[in-house]
Amino acid sequence: MAGEIAGTPLIKLGLNRGRAVIDHIANVDFAILPPSEDRQGNWFDVLIVGAGSAGLGAADRCQQLGINYVVIDAQRPAQLIRNMTKGKPLLMEPPNEENQTRLFCEECSKEQLLEQWEKQIVELGIEPHIQCFETVTVCPMDVLSFDNNRNNTLFHKLTVNGQSL
Ligand SMILES: Cc1cc2nc3c(=O)[nH]c(=O)nc-3n(C[C@H](O)[C@H](O)[C@H](O)COP(=O)(O)OP(=O)(O)OC[C@H]3O[C@@H](n4cnc5c(N)ncnc54)[C@H](O)[C@@H]3O)c2cc1C
Repeated sequence: MAGEIAGTPLIKLGLNRGRAVIDHIANVDFAILPPSEDRQGNWFDVLIVGAGSAGLGAADRCQQLGINYVVIDAQRPAQLIRNMTKGKPLLMEPPNEENQTRLFCEECSKEQLLEQWEKQIVELGIEPHIQCFETVTVCPMDVLSFDNNRNNTLFHKLTVNGQSL
């Protein structure tokens, strides 16, 4: 876990901790997994829940490392920041920590940050990996069901270490 949910409630910390989670997964878990190209079908090595700063930091790292990933969001990327009041100035604390991701992280208004992130999500190749769903439920039969309430329900079977989740 990374970001608000893990008790690090700042944008820069979310970005950096999201990245760190992927580095941990890449170093520990993927050491015992076959390379992605050996697998077939709807395989995702990593499922990122929430496209906030932590999720985007994680997605950026997956992208860099060539990890097969999907990001799901119940609403839209960076929904918390979108919901802030118009013109909200964003501080980038703590000053003694560098942003380790490629995502923009400088003091600015919320609109400026969102504009930069929207551009970067496309430029960095993250955009096709993001799917927005209204509901996400774990069903019987070890299948994770995504229902976006617009298209058909999609089913992705998740497997880790050769075993279905
Ligand atoms: C009013 C306010 C002002 C702030 N000002 C600053 C500031 O100036 N500087 C700063 O560094 N930080 C600030 N913060 C804190 C900062 O916004 C958060 O720490 C940061 O956005 C947390 O990132 P996150 O990725 O953990 O979570 P979030 O940004 O909350 O992202 C979570 C994402 O997950 C999605 N989601 C939620 N539930 C589900 C679900 N069940 N399934 C799928 N997706 C889901 C949401 O739609 C959202 O897009 C402020 C916060 C608030 C509320």
